[in-house]
Amino acid sequence: MIEIKDLHKSYHMGNNSLHVLKGINFNVKEGELVSIMGSSGSGKSTLLNILGMLDEADEGSYTLDNVPIKNLNEKIAANYRNKFLGFIFQSFNLINYKSALDNVALPLYYQGAKRKERADKAMHYLEKVGLAEWSHHLPSELSGGQKQRVAIARALASDPKVLLADEPTGALDTKTSYEVMDLIQGINDEGKTILLVTHEPDIAQMTKRIVNLKDGLIIDDSKVEQVRAIAHV
Ligand code: ADP
Ligand code: MG
Repeated sequence: MIEIKDLHKSYHMGNNSLHVLKGINFNVKEGELVSIMGSSGSGKSTLLNILGMLDEADEGSYTLDNVPIKNLNEKIAANYRNKFLGFIFQSFNLINYKSALDNVALPLYYQGAKRKERADKAMHYLEKVGLAEWSHHLPSELSGGQKQRVAIARALASDPKVLLADEPTGALDTKTSYEVMDLIQGINDEGKTILLVTHEPDIAQMTKRIVNLKDGLIIDDSKVEQVRAIAHV
């Protein structure tokens, strides 16, 4: 599903440059649930943003679902992003003046789906995350855990090949974090490929594979005995 070879990325600020990714190699197969770990500043978000086509590497290759991701024009890139990728962020990134339902329906709007199809699908995914009866509420009327569920429903709405989550439990208390991880595990059980950035070891243990980043390189990449979140909710 994902193939990355010798990926490099630097940031340049005036005369200074910061070499953040120094030759990353890794592959992700369909159906995997992978966590990317590392201390703050180790390049986790940089890597995830490149995987998410929100940013481009300086060197190396990236292939997503057999498509080489390189020098795509903005329109084609946006198209692939919409079709292949779903995003979940630490701070939810919901639109404050839109209802839960309208937030979930938004990616479908960009895909050109008709109004009725958008509403039906959005409702389907809100049901899936257990929030059907909250569909007409605004984000400000929802708890943190509920907001993240809406964001997960939104990420699923376009049925992407890969879900990318940057610290999805970073703004949640432990119990709510585990509830969100239970949902993420369930989505992965159904076959969805998921990559998740975290710096919390207990969250990483709830994935199936941990990739450890340090000083711009992968220093460890191991399978884990997956801990089920439901046992800790
Ligand atoms: P992590 O997500 O692991 O905390 P990041 O990938 O966000 O790490 O950042 C890695 C390093 O790159 C940090 O030192 C950060 O300050 C720097 N960095 C990230 N984004 C930018 C940017 N747009 N411009 C300059 N430096 C950046
Ligand atoms: Mg980060």
